[in-house]
Amino acid sequence: MRLGQRLLSGPPRGAGETGEVGRSIRGGQAMEGLRVVKDLLAPQTPCSRCQSAGCPWDRLAGQPICPDCQEALAQGEGEPFIVRTERHRCVICQQPGTVRYLTYPLHSAEPVEMDLCPRHFQALLARRLDRHAYHQLSRQLQTLGFSTRQVFLLHEAFYDEQGHSLQPVPEW
Ligand SMILES: [Zn+2]
Ligand SMILES: [Zn+2]
Repeated sequence: MRLGQRLLSGPPRGAGETGEVGRSIRGGQAMEGLRVVKDLLAPQTPCSRCQSAGCPWDRLAGQPICPDCQEALAQGEGEPFIVRTERHRCVICQQPGTVRYLTYPLHSAEPVEMDLCPRHFQALLARRLDRHAYHQLSRQLQTLGFSTRQVFLLHEAFYDEQGHSLQPVPEW
């Protein structure tokens, strides 16, 4: 298995603490694993990998990464992507230990940020969410008032309305 990113499990720091998990950041709407981010700092920051600029890019673990570089990551190309997981729960499977994935839904000025476990983070990046995961995420997005289409615009070639995967994707 060769992936462009390696996700390290963070140490269980402060394992006994309370009050951190699921906390909304910067005034976003509170929901475990999913939130609207109101005042993102410097949304036009260039891609952290290729430095291309001009659009607000998605942020993976807080790093702006353009679509081309995301594609490369999903293909296992380029610099490995090494991040520590955070103490949140995956929006899809509720597993603790997540990476943030921030994206701009179509027609929305405000980005949505979700917490994803390493497995679902990689699946989303590679557009390989299984049907159950896709539905779970759709449901959560709808509670924030977003349609799946707004978020999965780039994924339309890969998923149909029911979340079926349309294209065979090579196994790692
Ligand atoms: Zn880039
Ligand atoms: Zn998950």
